[in-house]
Parts: sequence; structure tokens; C-alpha cells
Amino acid sequence: MNILIMGPAGAGKGTMSELILQEYDIPHISTGDMLRENVRNNTELGKEAKSYMEAGKLVPDDVINAMVEKRLQEPDCQKGYLLDGFPRTLVQAEAFSAIAEKIGKPIESVIALEVDFEVLKDRITGRRICPKCGAIYHIRNHPSKVEGICDNCGSELSQRKDDTVEQLIVRMDEYEKSTKPVIDFYEARGVVTHVNAAKDKTVVFEEIKEALGKIA
Ligand code: AMP
Repeated sequence: MNILIMGPAGAGKGTMSELILQEYDIPHISTGDMLRENVRNNTELGKEAKSYMEAGKLVPDDVINAMVEKRLQEPDCQKGYLLDGFPRTLVQAEAFSAIAEKIGKPIESVIALEVDFEVLKDRITGRRICPKCGAIYHIRNHPSKVEGICDNCGSELSQRKDDTVEQLIVRMDEYEKSTKPVIDFYEARGVVTHVNAAKDKTVVFEEIKEALGKIA
């Protein structure tokens, strides 16, 4: 089961990915998470990616393509994958087509989450994450039991550096410019399902499950 989930920052890719993983036995491959881990561990890749990420800009395609190609060779990807945050540009989509062909894992379903700017603004500025276990909260819609503390592991919650209105505008612009052509690329292959992600999360997930049911 080879899935790609797409949507602008705050569309709920992380939350929906968690729900998809509970249903299907495939790994979640988030290029944003992989890059953040590299930055945290101060690897060569992390050092290269850091300034782009903090500015809300895309990390160069060749860096990302190589990182994903390597990740998909790992044994846990045998049954498929849930890609999140990649491909994000047409160049990445075209490069990934060749990579996926080579390793026999073409994308079968693209879930495109769609949400208005005002909804995204509220979600992004209220989002809190656990830097240790990756749990995601929202100060109003999904607060932790104790303010500022992760329910799962007790760590102090924080805000992602790029979760500001200013960065949201930059990321939305990037999304429009770079990622819409990716949706068009997959649209031409007939594998895209558009989902209104402003709705309640259980409704959004039902729509996703229906789409994935067609390829299961
Ligand atoms: P995300 O968590 O997916 O919003 O990604 C956070 C940041 O990581 C982005 O703003 C980019 O700087 C970088 N990034 C993640 N995925 C990609 C990608 N496929 N191509 C280029 N940059 C990426």
C-alpha cells in the first residue's frame, strides 16, 4: 500500500497520518520529521537543511530525493509506505517516479487535504508538539491534560519554530507555487482524492479510509 498524503502546513497531515498507521501496517515517512531529527542530532544533512527550514523554504531537491530513496530501501517499507511532505515539487515528483519504478513501489493513492487560510492560521498558532515523542496537541482543540506537558511522556511541550503566521504565509506561498503542480502530476495519473480537511477529524478520516479502501 503506497500512499502519499498532501496538504498545506496545518491541514492535519500529522493527525491523519497517525490514524492511517493505526489501520495499516506501513511506516510513516515524513521528510519534515526526518529533517528535524537530523537538525536535532546536528548531522551533516541537518546542518545543510537547518537554515532553509527556519526560513520556511524548501530544502534542495537533490538532498531530499537521496534521503527518501535511502529510507525506502529499509525493510519496514516492504508492505508499502505513507509518504508525508514528499514529493513537494514537480522535480521531486518526477525524480520519485523513477525511484519508485526502480524499487517497484509506485504511489497508488494521493490524499490531498484542503483547508482555508483562516482555519490553518488558528491550527498553526495553537499547535504544540512534544519534542521527545512527537505527540501533537492544540491549545484549544486538543489540549494536553496538564498545560504545557505531554500526556504520553511528561516532557515539556514546545512550539515549532516555523509555526508562526509569518512562516505560514511563506509556507502557503511555497505550497501554492511548488506543490500544486505535484497534485496536477498525480491527477493526470488518476490517483488523487481531494478531502475537505476543515471538517471534524473523524469525518475527514472516514473519507480517507473510503479512498484507501479502493487500493487495499
Ligand atoms: P514539514 O514538517 O513537512 O512542514 O516540513 C518542515 C520543513 O522541512 C519545510 O518547511 C522544509 O523546509 C523542509 N522540508 C520537508 N519536506 C521537504 C521536501 N520534500 N522538500 C524540501 N524541503 C522539505
